[in-house]
Amino acid sequence: MAHMPTTDSSTSFDLVLVGAGIIGLAIAYTWLRENPGGRLLILEKEARCAAHQSGRNSGVLHSGIYYAPGSRRAQNCVRGKAMMEAFCTANQVPFRTVGKLIVARDETELGRLAELERRGLANGVELERCNTARMAELEPEVRGVAGLFLPRTGVVDFGAVCLALQKAIEGAGGELSFGSKVQRIHAETNSVRFEIEGGDTPITARRAIACAGLQADRVARCAGLRAGELNLRIVPFRGEYQRLGEEAARRVRGLIYPVPDPRFPFLGVHFTRRICGRVDCGPNAVPALGRECYERWSTSPRDLATSVSWPGTWRLFARHAPMAFGEAWRSLSAAAFAREAARLLPGLTQQDFSTAPAGIRAQAVDRKGRLLDDYVTRRQGALLHVLNAPSPAATSSLAIGRYLVRLIKDN
Ligand SMILES: Cc1cc2nc3c(=O)[nH]c(=O)nc-3n(C[C@H](O)[C@H](O)[C@H](O)COP(=O)(O)OP(=O)(O)OC[C@H]3O[C@@H](n4cnc5c(N)ncnc54)[C@H](O)[C@@H]3O)c2cc1C
Repeated sequence: MAHMPTTDSSTSFDLVLVGAGIIGLAIAYTWLRENPGGRLLILEKEARCAAHQSGRNSGVLHSGIYYAPGSRRAQNCVRGKAMMEAFCTANQVPFRTVGKLIVARDETELGRLAELERRGLANGVELERCNTARMAELEPEVRGVAGLFLPRTGVVDFGAVCLALQKAIEGAGGELSFGSKVQRIHAETNSVRFEIEGGDTPITARRAIACAGLQADRVARCAGLRAGELNLRIVPFRGEYQRLGEEAARRVRGLIYPVPDPRFPFLGVHFTRRICGRVDCGPNAVPALGRECYERWSTSPRDLATSVSWPGTWRLFARHAPMAFGEAWRSLSAAAFAREAARLLPGLTQQDFSTAPAGIRAQAVDRKGRLLDDYVTRRQGALLHVLNAPSPAATSSLAIGRYLVRLIKDN
């Protein structure tokens, strides 16, 4: 069902979720399986699910190599990937296990590659250390001094996953209300009341979870959380992709990644052979001029003001100025981007690329300018806020959903 419930009896629910991205959908799917016959509603401001991060990402089913052993992010990724593959199989959503090669481009990256190997083994990730001969067998065109091959990494269309989740939720009696922008929330100990933009009937729930992605801090503020209590702000980062032409795309078999810089939660510009067969290079990480502004120069003055008025934004850029300027330069100069890409695949030039649609990451930044790289939740009476759900949250979504459903049950 894709409309606003109107009668009194249909406006009170056991669980209400804000946001029909993959996190909201995964929570709804999990909760309905555990509470058959329960009354659940998802409020989504757009006309469809997955309109933002969940439908505009790289589509990689991550294996869990990058995250600190024992962290929630590592555990959820390894478990979540297995759950996601089982869901896709059961619901006829195509996915492919293509394998990923992480490449140390020179000797200076060998130490970080060894650390990744250690993390991967501690996280139970299947992996193989590769010398140059083995790398040439796996990805003949790649250049580097050593690598790690992760045979279980895969690709999927997370937008298609979201549609399958929506179908399963509706099949289990859950409701989705599109075009329903939450503008105020009243959270009490045992109930939550929502006011919807343009709607005159408030929605009530015994429990609620807000998973609003790029708008997570604003939704928290509209529930009455003060800036001081939140101590974070969503700073949007564009992730731009360049698509390889047909000829150049033949040079990539699966997924090729550089060794990431551990100071940042981003993975570096990589090549992804998507589930549709196209090969994209990216995403980079450059400040976005608006949280939902996907065209390059489109700007939201309100979003820009929110970012620049946050002290954490300035501290972040002051600390990482060289990296930020490098990313911005490669975003503006197609030749510079091609040169960076050619460090992994020699011989690529800007003529091999055309611009592909960009995504925007919701990156939580604290007052000190630190990028928060794990999930952040905050309880407010019967309402739970998901304030940061960074990559690989799409891969991990079903495990995150299970964790959050337990969290509200225990309350
Ligand atoms: C460029 C890029 C590449 C990525 N690559 C990968 C990858 O390869 N693998 C991976 O696992 N992860 C990846 N990620 C991360 C992953 O996409 C996100 O972590 C995940 O989609 C977050 O889901 P979400 O539901 O929290 O947010 P979203 O998908 O952004 O959903 C939030 C929803 O809330 C709605 N909403 C907001 N405010 C309101 C309101 N007031 N009222 C009602 N509704 C509201 C929005 O319209 C939106 O639909 C990538 C992300 C990006 C941006």
